[in-house]
Amino acid sequence: MVVIGAGQAGLSAAYHLRRRGFVPHRDFVVLDADDAPGGAWAHRSPSLRMATVHGFHDLPDFELPAPDPQAPAREVVPGYFAAYEARHALPVVRPVRVTAVRAEPGGDRLLVESAAGTWSTRALVNATGTWTRPFLPHYPGHFAGRQLHYADYRGPAEFAGRTVAVVGGGASAIQLLSELAAVGRTLWVTRREPVFREGPFGEQDGRAAVALVEERVRQGLPVRSVVSVTGLGPSVALRRARELGALHREPMFDRLTEHGLAWGEREVAVDAVIWATGFRAEVGHLAPLGLREAGGGIRLDGTRAVADPRIHLVGYGPSASTIGANRAGRAAVSGIVRLIGAPAAAQP
Ligand code: FAD
Repeated sequence: MVVIGAGQAGLSAAYHLRRRGFVPHRDFVVLDADDAPGGAWAHRSPSLRMATVHGFHDLPDFELPAPDPQAPAREVVPGYFAAYEARHALPVVRPVRVTAVRAEPGGDRLLVESAAGTWSTRALVNATGTWTRPFLPHYPGHFAGRQLHYADYRGPAEFAGRTVAVVGGGASAIQLLSELAAVGRTLWVTRREPVFREGPFGEQDGRAAVALVEERVRQGLPVRSVVSVTGLGPSVALRRARELGALHREPMFDRLTEHGLAWGEREVAVDAVIWATGFRAEVGHLAPLGLREAGGGIRLDGTRAVADPRIHLVGYGPSASTIGANRAGRAAVSGIVRLIGAPAAAQP
């Protein structure tokens, strides 16, 4: 068995494989492209504090000790993942970047290829997240100032005293506004009118939102983020952005200009544009398997690829949150046990 990716989703799957009797290294490995534990969390901006993350759910069977709210998430969560891997003796092999997964010619196994070697497996859990595939929409025109995606943002210091356009209507945009408006001027641009959700988000609401994203994945359509269907809920970052007067939103501009953004004849000068326009699933290495539907997505039934029941995708679509990733890891392992059975007992 091979799990690709050691973020929340891959670690959850690895934990459940162990629970079901799969022996580390003998029966399964986790291949991870990074040098150290942490998944996407290790790459987030140092300015993202535990108090400002959207919400973090512990991995199964080992709690994250109450963190200092001011501690950077990029230190706390990777530290927790490292401790988790050690505590459950999870067989993470890194750095191993999987370049392709192919069907074994003339056989019924899958071949998982990387520069470090090829693994042959009966089933696969893909848990490669989205962080490595930031999405940048194309708009006409050329802007001469600094442009970056949220993935490359490293905190507000370099933007002190500047005017920054933040593009995007999700939680990342709100984090940016809450930090940048404290040190300079911001301009918030979104495609759709943002939907602010007041009050608590009950379990029922959560299930309804996940069901909407799930339906798209069941139809093999491109994945939408959970926030796109839940709206922006109350958070520390949202409160700060509101207090700073940064939530006035402009509709999407028509084009970029040398010095800023333009809506028809109106042009607004900015020093930088930060695209908080989301991510796409990192699944290019699965291309040889031909899982993609005409609609552009991979059709799933739960976590299982409809086109190939040996393959489960976790942290994908409706399970792209820390709580969703936990559940998906367990569901994927149950599906794999149904398909190939529980492992043989270890030899004495
Ligand atoms: P990741 O954490 O990205 O882990 C994927 C792992 O796979 C990485 O270690 C990577 O190196 C590895 N990998 C990738 N490609 C390959 C390859 N080809 N070969 C080998 N290894 C590979 N969720 C919340 O619950 N709360 C939040 O506040 C929150 N904030 C978020 C903010 C942003 C900007 C984003 C993008 C997501 C956020 N999420 C949040 C979602 C959440 O982080 C993830 O859905 C969840 O942590 C599950 O992560 P993952 O394991 O799927 O992916």
